[in-house]
Amino acid sequence: MSRPIGGTGPERSGTMRAAVFHGREKITLDECPLPECGPNDAIVKVTLTTICGTDVHIWREEYPVAPGRIVGHEPVGVIERLGAAVTGYEIGDRVLVGAITPCGSCFYCQSHSESQCSAHEDSWQMIGGWRLGNSIDGVQAEYFRVPYAQANMAKIPDELSDEQCVLLADIASTGISAAERAQVEIGQTVAVFAQGPIGLCATAGARLMGASLVIGIDSIEGRLSLSREMGADVVIDYTDQDPVAAVKRLTGGKGVDVAIEALGTQQTFQSCIEATRPGGTVSSLGVYGGKLEIPVEPFVYGIGDKNILTTLCPGGKERMRRLMELVRHGRLDLSSMITHRFDLDSIEDAYELFSSQRDGVVKVAITP
Ligand SMILES: [Zn+2]
Ligand SMILES: [Zn+2]
Repeated sequence: MSRPIGGTGPERSGTMRAAVFHGREKITLDECPLPECGPNDAIVKVTLTTICGTDVHIWREEYPVAPGRIVGHEPVGVIERLGAAVTGYEIGDRVLVGAITPCGSCFYCQSHSESQCSAHEDSWQMIGGWRLGNSIDGVQAEYFRVPYAQANMAKIPDELSDEQCVLLADIASTGISAAERAQVEIGQTVAVFAQGPIGLCATAGARLMGASLVIGIDSIEGRLSLSREMGADVVIDYTDQDPVAAVKRLTGGKGVDVAIEALGTQQTFQSCIEATRPGGTVSSLGVYGGKLEIPVEPFVYGIGDKNILTTLCPGGKERMRRLMELVRHGRLDLSSMITHRFDLDSIEDAYELFSSQRDGVVKVAITP
């Protein structure tokens, strides 16, 4: 079957509403031009999206993004237009697109580092595989352009709702990967430091990997109860007791096999090193600012055989397909993490709520 040059689907011109970054604590709903579809692209009409902690870093100017950029990187939607080179999809297909959109063919993609994909289009840049709402326009909008669409659109099974899928694009893929990358073995012990959205998904990931004891650490009661729901066997409120001492007590004095860092502070990173047994693994998800120091004593002066590894969200359509299968077969249910719902028109209120962490907010769902 041949596809007309220039792709299929209605060629629209005009404007759409989108959340645009304009500098410190200024993300506003603007009228923007509709995205254009290149031969390897698709245009997706967004049906549900959310706000990520990383978007808040952009909003606060803690992570640099060009002013004028449409933000957001967690989309569920419907294919509106397909580039001429994209095959195997139909206009109207429901799709999930990961936060990271690897090209599939560059050095990094071919070296099993798809998240670090650095294909031509953007020229080389840090964490190149994260394009949406970073190096190209994002998804907190009525429509967005999917780059390398052939590699990045996962069709959504009919029985799954948008809300069941939207958190898979980033936080579930990221959180679960902390346990996967650490190669948690069945019967091992895992402690997850911080139970925000990503830490909660890391807790679910530790359970999925077969850990026998999963310990969730935070200070907010709502998050500790969600932690239990996501698979923690024991939760520790670090304002009640020293979490490292508690972890040691729970593991016969040794420390856990794997400690997952899910906040991005010196304190939690250090606690992870202290809470890990010799030969164990610190699996770090946090995005750090300033300087990160390794205290030598708990690191056993560099000869304790402790591993430290970091992970950026795995993306691509096959990753998204497998995550959706976990939901479809009842192994993963993140629905209670969506605590608030907004229209795209109220996105500024959503940022205000999410960034201030008021009203027990965990994740917000945004409907264009
Ligand atoms: Zn994110
Ligand atoms: Zn690539």
